[in-house]
Amino acid sequence: MKGLMMNRPLKIADILEFAASSHQNGEIVSVRTEGDVHRTTYRETARRVAQLARGLRDLGVDVGDRVATLAWNGYRHFELYYATSGMGAVCHTINPRLSAEQMLYIIKHADDQLLFTDLTFIPILESLAGDLPAHLRIVVMTDRAHMPNSKLPGLLCYEEILEDQPQTIVWPDFPEDTAAGLCYTSGTTGNPKGTLYTHRSTVLHALLLAVSLPNVLQEGRKILPVVPLFHVNAWGLPYAAPLAGASLIFPGPALDGKSLFDLMDREKVFSAWGVPTVWIGLLNQIRAEGRLPAGFADVVIGGSAAPKSMIEAFEQAGVNVCHAWGMTEMSPVGTQGNLPKALDDLPPAERIDRKCAQGRRLFGVDLKIVDDDGAPQPHDGTSPGNLYVRGNTVTAGYFEDEAANADVFDADGWFRTGDIATIDADGFLTITDRAKDLIKSGGEWISSLDLENVIMSHPKVMSCAVIAVPHPKWDERPLLVIQPRDEDRPDKQELLDMLSEHFAKWQLPDDVVYVDGLPLTATGKVSKLTLRKQFADHALPDAV
Ligand code: AMP
Repeated sequence: MKGLMMNRPLKIADILEFAASSHQNGEIVSVRTEGDVHRTTYRETARRVAQLARGLRDLGVDVGDRVATLAWNGYRHFELYYATSGMGAVCHTINPRLSAEQMLYIIKHADDQLLFTDLTFIPILESLAGDLPAHLRIVVMTDRAHMPNSKLPGLLCYEEILEDQPQTIVWPDFPEDTAAGLCYTSGTTGNPKGTLYTHRSTVLHALLLAVSLPNVLQEGRKILPVVPLFHVNAWGLPYAAPLAGASLIFPGPALDGKSLFDLMDREKVFSAWGVPTVWIGLLNQIRAEGRLPAGFADVVIGGSAAPKSMIEAFEQAGVNVCHAWGMTEMSPVGTQGNLPKALDDLPPAERIDRKCAQGRRLFGVDLKIVDDDGAPQPHDGTSPGNLYVRGNTVTAGYFEDEAANADVFDADGWFRTGDIATIDADGFLTITDRAKDLIKSGGEWISSLDLENVIMSHPKVMSCAVIAVPHPKWDERPLLVIQPRDEDRPDKQELLDMLSEHFAKWQLPDDVVYVDGLPLTATGKVSKLTLRKQFADHALPDAV
């Protein structure tokens, strides 16, 4: 028997309409590429989004068309998220840190009609000019006064598109599985693959995130997404924050520790979200200032494993750490690491150990771990398995990419994450490694993340990575790559001694090398692929 309730499509436009009428004090504060700070409200933003959508329509953008963005975190980028999806078009965010070749590939693969760019990225587009599709029109996200003098033909001006347009719009209705956003993730091999979000998946993700993090996603809170709007939807904050009535503080291009500290201090940011590499800079600044930014009480760390020393540094300073895990293909958040109330009284050391895990699943995200033959592994916190996910916020297949889709789903339709993980009896997920980053030595697996976690607590270490190096006898052996904090670098033996307190002898790295900086991927994670290539011929001393 069918129920008798209305069935209205879930639509992204409804989130902003709701925020505009119900969260009138919700603010969007943006550091602009023009150099100043811009302030607006959700109410005013809804008016500009209506103008932008009307302007897009006048430019010929139609339902299903792809509209690309190449932009920092700021209010105009936020407006594009809502104007494009509201009218039934698709907001395709492009990561400006991709190589020229990858960028051209995805612009062509997505068949973008328009491309909105911040002033900063004009030189990138100028360097691609000859190879860009002829029909692609480029809009610069600024006003007339700041329009660049560029050799790019026919540049349009963002503010002129909005000018003279009415400030209201009646959004069209369409099925909730209509495409709304497109984000490509760059694999280590092959071309980038596109995740095509729907209105339904995006609205559900916003709701699930808001109920999972009620301490942050509530009216009056100020949230700083350092995680970019140009990748993984800034972890869903552009949707969850207005839904909950929290304000968004966008840092624009200024992402170094001092700029973040000053912005957070000025704006009294409650919670800041980003990858571990960003927090190294902020923690350095906190040490230099001898205090936290005013109002700072919560940090969400994800994208790669948060080192234990980082979790300790924040928690000991009184900042709650939420260690989260997810993927582009999951909208992106899958688990969050706030502890349940029952664990409120854990001694600090145990609390930190718990927070090194990636947390518990969001409602609606199903997790399973299986061995290489597909047999389910017990949830005992010690048996690792290949991690698969399922749910309404998980991809059902990459955009127009049959080859990629052929081997990422199991027979029951679960999506293979490529991560190796354990799950304990309380539902805490621990990522032991990315499958391809595990080190296979003499048939035994060594987790690079476990070794890195210990080394990161050394006071002279700024950052580190453990990678596999080919070995004639053992197949692979671990190599420890260290970025020291300054010239007083930690001694090799001292590092190995530190590790030997926690690991068996055969698990210890065979060698230690020192570098000035670790290579980062386009999403700000340490690029182990680059390191593996760089040290492929590294001559290891005699194996243990
Ligand atoms: P992306 O799609 O670029 O967000 O990358 C997703 C991948 O990042 C995951 O499959 C994990 O390998 C990794 N990842 C994300 N969050 C975490 C985390 N908290 N700890 C360890 N790895 C993570």
